[in-house]
Amino acid sequence: MTQAPFPHTDFEILDTKVYNHPLVYLDNAATTQKPRTVVDAISHYYTHLNSNIHRGAHYLAAQATELYEQTRHKVAQFIGAAKPCEIIFTRGTTESINLVAASFSQMALREGDEIIVTAMEHHSNLVPWQLAAERHKAVLRFVPYSDEGVLDIEAYRQLFTPRTRLVAATHVSNTLGTVNPVADMARIAHSHGVPMLVDGAQAVAHTPIDVQALDCDFYCFSAHKMYGPMGIGVLYGKEERLNAMPPYHGGGEMIADVSLQRSTYNVLPFKFEAGTPSVADVLGFGAAIDYLQGVGMNVIADYEKELLRYATERLLSVENLRIIGNAPHKASVISFLIGNAHPYDTGMLLDKLGIAVRTGHHCTQPIMDRYGIPGTVRASFAAYTTTADIDALASAIIRIAPMLQ
Ligand code: PMP
Repeated sequence: MTQAPFPHTDFEILDTKVYNHPLVYLDNAATTQKPRTVVDAISHYYTHLNSNIHRGAHYLAAQATELYEQTRHKVAQFIGAAKPCEIIFTRGTTESINLVAASFSQMALREGDEIIVTAMEHHSNLVPWQLAAERHKAVLRFVPYSDEGVLDIEAYRQLFTPRTRLVAATHVSNTLGTVNPVADMARIAHSHGVPMLVDGAQAVAHTPIDVQALDCDFYCFSAHKMYGPMGIGVLYGKEERLNAMPPYHGGGEMIADVSLQRSTYNVLPFKFEAGTPSVADVLGFGAAIDYLQGVGMNVIADYEKELLRYATERLLSVENLRIIGNAPHKASVISFLIGNAHPYDTGMLLDKLGIAVRTGHHCTQPIMDRYGIPGTVRASFAAYTTTADIDALASAIIRIAPMLQ
């Protein structure tokens, strides 16, 4: 196998010792570690640039505004958006989806209307639609998937009716690892005149994204899962869609003119960015994108593909281990169970050996119900994960397996 694209030396935290074992960090789907350049960018902002953006008539405010808006351009270019004004900074994927679920639904959803969602969504791309459906007396319809974790596209086609108003689907399942055919799904949705929202939280750090090629109407993601800071993320929306939607949060920056009775609203992207944004985190996010582009998304995607193949082979060679989610097209996430052991017990024992995995339902309780399991153990990889990390996981599982019977 080739070397990991990101060296451990860029990530001081990976030197941590856990109970006298070297940390093996395999919880990257929850959040990735941050390279030094990202931490430095945040620290540099607070040390040298701190000021509120857009409104200030002074040097620091102008500098901070310039860097903030440059980052918007960088994000637009990174995901292939047509225009920087199509990039709305939010607190993360969850807020981006809630924005669309509230604003689009207020504009477009009426009693008896329908929203199509897949049955494998993270709660973040399910509960906002449940809330919207409840508010507007609409109905949710679900795309089923096979035991392997592959969406049933024929069933998806059949779900459309004249009342369908929106499709929401995850690009990559955080639990099953499935990469969904979102470009095909968007094409089918558009043939019915229906827009499509894609939850890209688990995709952007692992594969090149071109929102114009996918032709989705909305694409949502979080910086912290792509080597950037927590508390910052993006809603990409096609300009004409965002222009048609009412504001989500009211406050400073999102207005054009305010009188006591009513207001007019600012142009994109500011219409959807009320209040003081997390400027330092936006700049840290920019540093994360520079870091990813320094290696290149194709290199990262190729490496993680090899890593997934290696890890799947290693884990399947462990007796009594079964993988939940066996789609032919997967991202570098492996959910598994060992015999009848409870995932929490497995995770706790792995932790004692320095191995950080996630256990539980991974905010996808309907997936657990679908398989009739209480949860899974999830190992998820990043561009700094090495084959030695995978070997350490496999050896640890073999070592703890007798304690789990
Ligand atoms: N969607 C998916 C597929 C995710 O994996 C996650 C994070 N686990 C989210 C949405 C929510 O992301 P955030 O918590 O950063 O808003």
